[in-house]
Order: sequence, then structure tokens, then C-alpha cells
Amino acid sequence: MFQNAVELSHFYLQNTVKPGAFCVDATCGNGKDTVFLASLVKENGHVFAFDIQKAAIENTRAVLEKSGLSERVKLILDGHENMASYLGEKRADAFVFNLGYLPKGDHIIKTQGSTTVAALDTALSLLKPNGIIIISIYHGGDSGFSERDTVLQYLQSLDPHEYHAVIHSYTNQPNFPPILALICRHL
Ligand code: SAM
Repeated sequence: MFQNAVELSHFYLQNTVKPGAFCVDATCGNGKDTVFLASLVKENGHVFAFDIQKAAIENTRAVLEKSGLSERVKLILDGHENMASYLGEKRADAFVFNLGYLPKGDHIIKTQGSTTVAALDTALSLLKPNGIIIISIYHGGDSGFSERDTVLQYLQSLDPHEYHAVIHSYTNQPNFPPILALICRHL
């Protein structure tokens, strides 16, 4: 249980996303989180999934088809920093940001602190009360530290009257284990 940041993030999603919900996967990659969200929202809910790489969109499309969940998901080949124009008046119950590069893909193409923070700011403005934003932050190695520092600084700046910002770190693991951050909107 809670073996890694993704497993921990799914625990939170399982406990917050209800059937009929609307969720956003801000970085669909190979589709693991998109499939999980689509399974939680059930047939009356829906998911928007963003990625800047065509390969990621196609990988996600393939796993959704295999799981029979394609109908619930809209795949969008664009940066999450542009999500406002796709969501329009819609408000989301959950946003998932799994930062970094596409596993088995080009490590040069990865999320960046400035666009991630721009997208988080937009996500906060489009989040329903009691909604949740989940961010898996990778650091060290090819991920470096700059995005981690930018995101953590942003989390610290959030108004505590409006949001709870929580950080989980696997404190007894070597090197740089991923950090799982949550933002819960309580207004
Ligand atoms: N959640 C994915 C999964 O379950 O397989 C893994 C995501 S992977 C760690 C990070 C993804 O973010 C990559 O596929 C990358 O192309 C994507 N990405 C990078 N910059 C982005 C941006 N500005 N907007 C949306 N996606 C972006």
C-alpha cells in the first residue's frame, strides 16, 4: 500500500472522485491516470486529458480503448497552460498533474515550472469547492530541481483561508523519491 506517489495519488482520488464527476488529467502521458479517472467517474462522468505529445495522446487513446472507457474521455493535444479555453464554463472536481517526462519517451520534453504554475493557477480558478488538485513532482536526475522548487514555492503562497496545500515525501527512501502534493479547496 502507498508504494509510490502514483499509488498514493490514486488513494486520494478514489476517496474524492464520485460517479458523475468531471476531472482533468493535465498530463496524460501513457494514460494510467486517465484510465483511473475514467473508471472513477463512471458512465455519467467525463474526463478531459491533455498532453503536448502526439505519442502520449495516442498511447492514452490505446489504453482507453482497451479498457472500454473512450466514451468518457476527451483527449486534447495541447499544453495544460491553455486548459481554460477548452473548459469554458465547466468546473472540475479534480485535476491530476503527473509532472516530468513521458516514461519511455524523450526526457528532454518535460513539464516546466512556469507553465505548470500557470496551469495550476488556472486549475484553481476552475476547481469546484471541495475539489482536489493532485501533483506528482519528480526531481533529481533528468528532472532536475527547478520545477520542484517553483511548484513548492507556489504551494506555499496559497491563501490558507481558501486552500489546504499538503506535501507528502517518502522520507526513508534514497535519492530523490517523488513528492506528492495536494491542494484542496475548502471554500
Ligand atoms: N500521467 C501519465 C501516466 O499515467 O502515464 C504520466 C505523465 S508523464 C510523467 C508527463 C507528461 O507531461 C508527458 O507525457 C509530457 O509530454 C507531458 N507534458 C509536458 N509538458 C506539458 C504541458 N505543458 N501540458 C501538458 N502535458 C505536458
